[in-house]
Amino acid sequence: MENLISLVNKLQRACTALGDHGEESALPTLWDSLPAIAVVGGQSSGKSSVLESIVGKDFLPRGSGIVTRRPLVLQLHKIEEGREYAEFMHLPRKKFTDFAQVRKEIADETDRETGRSKQISSVPIHLSIYSPNVVNLTLIDLPGLTKVAVEGQPDSIVQDIENMVRSYIEKPNCIILAISPANQDLATSDAIKISREVDPKGERTFGVLTKIDLMDKGTDAVDILEGKAYKLQYPWIGVVNRSQADINKSVDMIAARRREREYFANSPEYKHLAHRMGSEHLGKMMSKHLEQVIKSRIPGIQSLINKSIAELESELSRLGKPIAADAGGKLYMIMEICRVFDQIYKEHLDGVRPGGEKVYNVFDNQLPAALKRLQFDKQLSMENVRKLITEADGYQPHLIAPEQGYRRLIESSLVSIRGPAEAAVDAVHAILKELVHKAINETLELKQYPSLRVEVGNAAFDSLDRMKESSKKATLQMVDMECSYLTVDFFRKLPQDVEKGGNPTHSIFDRYNDSYLRRIGTTVLAYVNMVCASLRNSIPKSIVYCQVREAKRSLLDHFFTELGKKESKQLASLLDEDPAVMERRTALAKRLELYRSAQAEIDAVAWAK
Ligand code: GDP
Ligand code: MG
Repeated sequence: MENLISLVNKLQRACTALGDHGEESALPTLWDSLPAIAVVGGQSSGKSSVLESIVGKDFLPRGSGIVTRRPLVLQLHKIEEGREYAEFMHLPRKKFTDFAQVRKEIADETDRETGRSKQISSVPIHLSIYSPNVVNLTLIDLPGLTKVAVEGQPDSIVQDIENMVRSYIEKPNCIILAISPANQDLATSDAIKISREVDPKGERTFGVLTKIDLMDKGTDAVDILEGKAYKLQYPWIGVVNRSQADINKSVDMIAARRREREYFANSPEYKHLAHRMGSEHLGKMMSKHLEQVIKSRIPGIQSLINKSIAELESELSRLGKPIAADAGGKLYMIMEICRVFDQIYKEHLDGVRPGGEKVYNVFDNQLPAALKRLQFDKQLSMENVRKLITEADGYQPHLIAPEQGYRRLIESSLVSIRGPAEAAVDAVHAILKELVHKAINETLELKQYPSLRVEVGNAAFDSLDRMKESSKKATLQMVDMECSYLTVDFFRKLPQDVEKGGNPTHSIFDRYNDSYLRRIGTTVLAYVNMVCASLRNSIPKSIVYCQVREAKRSLLDHFFTELGKKESKQLASLLDEDPAVMERRTALAKRLELYRSAQAEIDAVAWAK
């Protein structure tokens, strides 16, 4: 079962190393769910002495007045063999084998935080002791409770100490060692008062009576030790620590323990209680109790760890993968991200995501409306027909049919289709660009890399610009083709008299009369309408072929080619993540590692049961 406590110590140390004290961190912490033992009591009631004798070492500053001015978190680690040593967390890798030096370092470190005043600080000192002569325990030495501020202390000190002590012992996982001196009335015990406040049922409070040897002659502590004076859930334990005179004479711990044993065994009042008195017994009892508590907490700790791991993992996956170290990995990563973007873009065009329907709207509404606005009938009004035919004839009026006039009339109408055709190309281009914006915003992977995001966007726009140019060329070419060669059949099938001016009253001199011109106008309008209807169908085909289809096929092709030529450094600059994100990921990964190893260890213990 010692594994159990050593596991707890391990976890607790790991948590503390990560700054995982439970106060500042938003994540639930291991610290809060792990048990520890804290000593509480009035000033000079013997708290530090009790701790020392549990440890079996002289190492704590003791004495009258306010000596302990910062919480001391003490972890005892049992080692199988070897020389015992101590380590402070603020001095990693420095092994203390001289315990007088440990005491000095505690005092110095206290002064570093509080100055040489009688001020207190709630910042704990962490100390680990490795020894074959201890049981595995985590103990917390706290400043003593006082009643009044003395010279050099602020008035708030009484309340400050009480609040600090309470902050440690109110945690439900804290086992309280309530220290009361036997030479004072139990009714005035600060330890009992504050522990009852945070643990009214006494479920985690152990009563320790010190200074039994200092009781007035003729009085004894039997009533208290038998639980008759003040009943606690667990039996009271009496101890006899070294007096100030012993300390001054450097009476060692072994001698002190032997004397304590003898004291209880030889006092007629306490003989019958001797088997459950003394510091050694206290240490064993604490260890046993701690084991039970931890055992009952294992499932809770496991679920806490599992929950934290799940949370860390989900945040990590939100942050995205870390950047690959080598050029190949980086290239692969960029390609993967681009592929995701490309896929999303296609989905917009294919109707899986919205936006593609706007292209059809151009073909179905915008283009026909623009063609209609050309108003060919007005372009081919009789006046215009007369003007153009006359101009085309020049000085020599046409003889049979106004061939040149026809051509000019048709050409001048068809040329105006270029406008709507070009507008349709531009409209589709604008839609395709808008979809690039959308797809970029929807590609979560791109959020992580601002530079790549800009580059991919620019590359896509460049491609679309190129496609627009080729589409414009192809589309206008179709219009121009209609201008450059007319459908001969259309005219051959017309009634012959129109062509020949076959009306007998129609002399060569009145060839420009109204009905003749109107007939020419009607014929040209019919032809232009026919061509316009056919272009109305073929312009969308050309646009889709040159722009939409190409965008789906090769939006990033050019970008990929360029990418292949880039060196590792340039690739890295594309993947320049926000440094805050990188830091957060590293921190999360480190924490995740801690929780994972904690999980593995605690699972092993849980299954071994
Ligand atoms: P703390 O302020 O509660 O940490 O008390 P300390 O452990 O520093 O002890 C205060 C003084 O009381 C020291 O001089 C100790 O030697 C003395 N003392 C503590 N416990 C006992 C005890 O059981 N018997 C005797 N005779 N003196 C004790
Ligand atoms: Mg003390």
